[in-house]
Amino acid sequence: MVVCDGLADRPLREGGLTPLERAETPQMDRIAEEGICGLMDPIAPGITPGSDTAHLSLLGYDPFQTYSGRGPFEAAGAGLPLRKGDVAFRVNFATVDENLLLRDRRAGRLRDGRELEELLRGIRVEGAEILFRSTSSHRAVLVLRGKGLSHQVSSNDPHTTGVRVEGVRPLSAAGRKTARILNEFLRKAREVLEEAPLNRRRREQGLPPANYLLVRGGGTVPSLEPLESRFSLRGACVAAAALVRGVCRLAGMEVAEVPTSTTGVDTDLEAEVAEVERRLEESDLVLYSIKGFDEVSHDGDARRKIEFIERFDGYLPRLREMADFLVLTADHSTPVEVREHTADPVPVVIAGPGVRTDEVRRFGERSCARGGLGRIRGTELLPILVDLMGRSRKFGA
Ligand SMILES: [Zn+2]
Repeated sequence: MVVCDGLADRPLREGGLTPLERAETPQMDRIAEEGICGLMDPIAPGITPGSDTAHLSLLGYDPFQTYSGRGPFEAAGAGLPLRKGDVAFRVNFATVDENLLLRDRRAGRLRDGRELEELLRGIRVEGAEILFRSTSSHRAVLVLRGKGLSHQVSSNDPHTTGVRVEGVRPLSAAGRKTARILNEFLRKAREVLEEAPLNRRRREQGLPPANYLLVRGGGTVPSLEPLESRFSLRGACVAAAALVRGVCRLAGMEVAEVPTSTTGVDTDLEAEVAEVERRLEESDLVLYSIKGFDEVSHDGDARRKIEFIERFDGYLPRLREMADFLVLTADHSTPVEVREHTADPVPVVIAGPGVRTDEVRRFGERSCARGGLGRIRGTELLPILVDLMGRSRKFGA
């Protein structure tokens, strides 16, 4: 299952074609010809997906039932061992002054928080076990584990500098205990961070100290029935985005380590495709999620989007060779002229033995609308694929 992050688009003002329609994509077109095509609402019509909720949906989980915030998927992507009911947050190392006025939301884009992670892991708070991991640059994840916890707490991120950072507040009665624990942790964390050798060095160098933690994206870790028991599929995932790796890990899939020295449109596609091939030896389904399309779309760069589509197109014959079935789709639309995700449906094709081919000869947002799959939802994709693979269970006698 090849998921091109943010591939789908809208017609460009100049020329009236989408980047995908404008790009030369002989290989995608061959797959469209060989397969059954359609349009897919990653979540539902009119619902703008995030990459996390969209990937949940593509793996057959209803995001409205399973998603309460981004934190758990970030934490799982960072490799923290999670349990159902844990409450997880995204964290920024930030800079505050002595009056708790926010000076820098990213602590001067702190490069590496691992030294601080060590110190923060020593903090104990009554009522919950705390897991903390620094992820990349100024980012980290925080997990609270214990009885009676809830994600029903506010963020403490004021989003603008010069404003006093207040504690988190419960958003309902269920969040009271969590807010108390989190505020105590944040207070202790500040004490630890103020004294940290790394921050002493940063002050000496005239850099903003990473002396406060901003938490947001709180969510409760859902219990996702693993793909293996739902569909009898052994799943693996090759994805450069930690958030997508987190979704796959919580779905019980094997998660490959992919090279992160190059990212976005400079991604080492060669290495990723080789990893997909390796993973297919031991898996029934490999989800391969490619980030570059989305990044250039958020930058509003149609030319680079078209170039990346054309470069990726060259890898499709190899991907097609590797497995009996190939699904090619996107997790959502990110139109370059909007620079944000939109709810527009995405094109989808399933190629493989026995599929009822249709008249579609080009892989594109509008051409696929005439395909035999019609218009489906993200949660329906995997059941359709599993059935084509001959692995569905009969409903009824
Ligand atoms: Zn995405």
